[in-house]
Amino acid sequence: MNTALSYYFNEEHEAFRQTIKQFLKKEAEPHIDQWEQEGKIPREFWKKFGEMGYFGLAYPEAYGGSDLDFFYTVVMIEEVSKVFSGGLAITAAVQTCMSTPYIFHHGSEYLKEEFMRPAIAGDKIGCIGITEPGAGSDVQNIQTRAIKEGDYYILNGSKTFITNGIYGHFVILVCKTNPNAGAAGVSLLVLDLNSEGITKNKLKKLGWHSSDTAELHFDNVKVPTKNLLGEEGKGFYYLMGGLQLERLAGSIMGYAACEGMLEYGMEYMRQREAFGRPINKFQVLRHRVAQMAAEIEATKFYVLQTCRMHNEKKYAVKESSISKLLASELADKTAYQVLQFFGGYGYMEEYKIARAFRDSRIGTIGGGTSEIMREIIAKMVIDDANYDRATSNEKSSNEEQKPTTVEGIFATLPSRFKKEKAAGKNLSVLFKFDTANYLVQINDGHLDIQSNANNEQASADCIVETNDETYIAVETGKINPQEAFMTGKIKVSELMKMMEFGGLFKRL
Ligand SMILES: Cc1cc2nc3c(=O)[nH]c(=O)nc-3n(C[C@H](O)[C@H](O)[C@H](O)COP(=O)(O)OP(=O)(O)OC[C@H]3O[C@@H](n4cnc5c(N)ncnc54)[C@H](O)[C@@H]3O)c2cc1C
Repeated sequence: MNTALSYYFNEEHEAFRQTIKQFLKKEAEPHIDQWEQEGKIPREFWKKFGEMGYFGLAYPEAYGGSDLDFFYTVVMIEEVSKVFSGGLAITAAVQTCMSTPYIFHHGSEYLKEEFMRPAIAGDKIGCIGITEPGAGSDVQNIQTRAIKEGDYYILNGSKTFITNGIYGHFVILVCKTNPNAGAAGVSLLVLDLNSEGITKNKLKKLGWHSSDTAELHFDNVKVPTKNLLGEEGKGFYYLMGGLQLERLAGSIMGYAACEGMLEYGMEYMRQREAFGRPINKFQVLRHRVAQMAAEIEATKFYVLQTCRMHNEKKYAVKESSISKLLASELADKTAYQVLQFFGGYGYMEEYKIARAFRDSRIGTIGGGTSEIMREIIAKMVIDDANYDRATSNEKSSNEEQKPTTVEGIFATLPSRFKKEKAAGKNLSVLFKFDTANYLVQINDGHLDIQSNANNEQASADCIVETNDETYIAVETGKINPQEAFMTGKIKVSELMKMMEFGGLFKRL
């Protein structure tokens, strides 16, 4: 094994790689041309994929998963990205990294049993439904509405470009449950795609031919309120957390596709002769290969380092955005250059590079465009101070009565504590500020706040680090918490724990 790679992958990971490689060689590769032509991968394949445990690598055994570290998922995505069918790779990635994680992190037991367990088993395929005809990059502007009526939400609106939306079984639907509340009105519902009132239209597209991409219309669809993920109004927040994994999966797909394409190209160059010698003897082409190999390896290590951060449960917004930007743009460039090695044959359907060329084009668009990645990175690198005012927080008319010091805000915690909701919960958060620390502990409905807690001694479930000014601005609704996270003004060691903690207190 490459010694540098062994920093990320151990022998068990590599043994697992051999197993999934063999599985794909036998069960997928002989059929890919047909699946690409038919625009569909048969259910039976995904059932076998589930039975092999590939959909549940990182999930607890209690739900049929294998409870393994994130690098097994990395291996799985690498290998599905090397079979020269982006459509196959994206279905596996959407299932494991873009839809089921929301149920795992925020779903009730009912939702886990109804949707996550069958998804892990390969019986149900999931989707993520964010994009709408009028809102892609601008997620906050989505118009799909779910208005509560008794035990149901009544859903109206449209989604577009939804991967797995035709043959899939459920969608994690991003919608507005309170259309007047901006980002705080966004919620996530798990919608059964067989519900009455859904119209589906299969879209024709440039690449990813074996994957189904759908336009979905919702006409008074009844969604049970028990299908709400987490809490109403927290959808945007959940999405910000989930998108990091989505972008990381896209990054792994990007560099792995590059490796597959370069290897395929080099094999061709060894065999193809021009001017009496193999074309891999021409210096200009050798240097092009060398340059590509260097860029792919550098990008891969950056992405793997970000995977390591993810594995250690760090909220790596900047790193995930950089990974996605670099890996997806490199995949596009690699496809272009490797196709050139093939000359006219590269333009022919019977050569896999033609398909890879088509498939790579989506990488810089789906899951957040390159421009949006640069926006996020620019905000973090340049440290733009132009924060939007919070659209989420219900602004109180008596703004002046809100506390203006960290001490003052912590003094309000007992009166804002949702004691009943905290029953049975054990959670501790250490807040580190410029001049003071606070350890907030919740033990089965009891709240305990220690000021100036000793950093070394306090072992907390989550550590929040920020300065006084930012914290006060977030708490009093002057800046958007997502913006504060995404620009690195607030560092949160465990985002999910922090969300859980935040849900136990009323807003100021
Ligand atoms: C094959 C395929 C599969 C997909 N799968 C899914 C899926 O499963 N689920 C899902 O929800 N979505 C999915 N998408 C949608 C995808 O995520 C969006 O297409 C993407 O986020 C861009 O949104 P948009 O197409 O509306 O482009 P727009 O947001 O309209 O952007 C148009 C152009 O303007 C640029 N732009 C926009 N805002 C800014 C800005 N602030 N600064 C600079 N430039 C900007 C964009 O980068 C882009 O170049 C898929 C798309 C495709 C093509």
